[in-house]
Amino acid sequence: MNVADSEVVASVLGEEHYEVTNDESEADLVLINTCSIRDNAEKRIWNRLDALKHNKKINPELKVGVIGCMAERLGGKLAENKLVSLVAGPDSYRKLPGMLTMADKGDPAIDTELSKEETYAGILPKRLEENAFGGFVSISRGCNNFCTYCIVPYTRGRERSRNPEDVMSEVQELINTGHKEITLLGQNVNSYHYKTDEADIDFPDLLKSVSKLDTTVRIRFTTSHPKDISDKLIETIAENDNICNHIHLPVQSGSSRMLKLMNRKYDRDWYMERIQKIHEFIPNCGITTDIFCGFHDETEVDHQQTLSLMKEVGFDWAFMFKYSEREGTYAAKHLKDNVPEETKTKRLQEIIALQQELSIKSNKADIGKKFAVLAEGVSKKSDQELFGRNEQNKVIVFPKGNYNPGDYVQVKVFDCSSATLKGSLVE
Ligand code: SAH
Ligand code: SF4
Repeated sequence: MNVADSEVVASVLGEEHYEVTNDESEADLVLINTCSIRDNAEKRIWNRLDALKHNKKINPELKVGVIGCMAERLGGKLAENKLVSLVAGPDSYRKLPGMLTMADKGDPAIDTELSKEETYAGILPKRLEENAFGGFVSISRGCNNFCTYCIVPYTRGRERSRNPEDVMSEVQELINTGHKEITLLGQNVNSYHYKTDEADIDFPDLLKSVSKLDTTVRIRFTTSHPKDISDKLIETIAENDNICNHIHLPVQSGSSRMLKLMNRKYDRDWYMERIQKIHEFIPNCGITTDIFCGFHDETEVDHQQTLSLMKEVGFDWAFMFKYSEREGTYAAKHLKDNVPEETKTKRLQEIIALQQELSIKSNKADIGKKFAVLAEGVSKKSDQELFGRNEQNKVIVFPKGNYNPGDYVQVKVFDCSSATLKGSLVE
């Protein structure tokens, strides 16, 4: 999502004749697009700011700005750092040119106003990775869910769905410029709903229309909220071949008691029923998730329920975290961060170890199967090999043969680790 937002920023500044450079030492302006989801994400930014002091010594004209969620959360506090002359929240990017002019005059420019309407309509993002075959398109901004532990509704504001015509023309532009895979983005992508007097378009409608633009281009989407995985959405994925059979469906916990404390709006049974429905309609669907342990009052029994749910679903892959209390959230005010750090660490290790086993099991089950892989680049280990992903979003390494990045290649899997599949070319 931050990559997609940085592309909006690059477009806004491109209009003002700024150019993007990949060489930091050459930059006159460094904007750090930030995440506040966990404390360690923010710590990395403070370290990055420290490191930039060196650049400033070499180039005293260098301007540094902090944008995104951490800018929204900390506002003026960031500008207390002498290096930072600009602080812009996620809804302030149109104002960046004016803010830069202001920063030039000496005072730090700070804008953290959130908007109920801003979707950056009319701004065509400037693609930052020129040789990429995959592109991102934001279809909604913000989040209304207020999971009790989460900072996102405060830093990114209310949920807004973008005009479908803008989404379609952005996707078309990516197709025209040779992209082979498009990922639709939203914090809660499947709650997309564009409603006016003339239009009433939900996520499955949009997904289907996008997939019809060019059936040789793959469509992905993330992140789906379990409460909004409707039958219509599952059927739409099943019916359209170029919509990838992969759903990233963050469960967070296997304990219904925890899910209630988290305000996730579903329970374990609901989640498992949705998983069954996915299997029924999309038999070869990749399913991945997010899990975090150690939330308020989490007991060993709750934790065991997370482990048992993981086994029951057999996730292909997961992002796994320890709970990190975020100031300003409902949990920070009312649900004490009372699981000891050692317990969090131990539980996270158990979750990671189990997921490792599940990923290996899932990958072993692919041995002997054939997949269409979109080649993304040359393998790190050998220039005679390429890597790419199958529909299920698993990474596959295979011989280069006569193929190049950007090609769709038929590959048969013969070996695997927990993180990658190895395949041979199918002639
Ligand atoms: N909107 C998406 C996820 C956004 S944040 C969703 O609801 O699924 C990505 C992941 O970070 C979440 O799924 C959750 O697992 C994790 N996360 C969010 N807040 C957290 C916190 N305070 N501490 C630890 N992990 C957190
Ligand atoms: Fe955060 Fe919940 Fe919104 Fe996801 S759905 S961004 S976890 S509040």
